Amino acid sequence: MDAYRCKTCGKYLPIDPSTLGVGDAVTFTTSQQSTVQTRLTVKRGAVVSAVGDTLCVKVPRGGIYRVHRADVTPEGAPTSLTRWMFGECTCGRATQ
Ligand SMILES: [Zn+2]
Repeated sequence: MDAYRCKTCGKYLPIDPSTLGVGDAVTFTTSQQSTVQTRLTVKRGAVVSAVGDTLCVKVPRGGIYRVHRADVTPEGAPTSLTRWMFGECTCGRATQ
């Protein structure tokens, strides 16, 4: 998991979702809204088709989910939820 961390600040590096394609193992977060709270669940699956920015992700025993490209994370990388909690590296962005 250290490959996904910045050596300068120790925070997680942003992930480039444009490199994801069919066959890639990914994780994503779904939210279920109830009357009292929103429950976040991390799902794991494989990309079965990619049309524009919408990926169809097949989750074992969970069916197929349509997920926006920006909302999925390559398997093994910290999830968007994790990166949101711990902060994301912005070192590289300062020069852009
Ligand atoms: Zn950094």
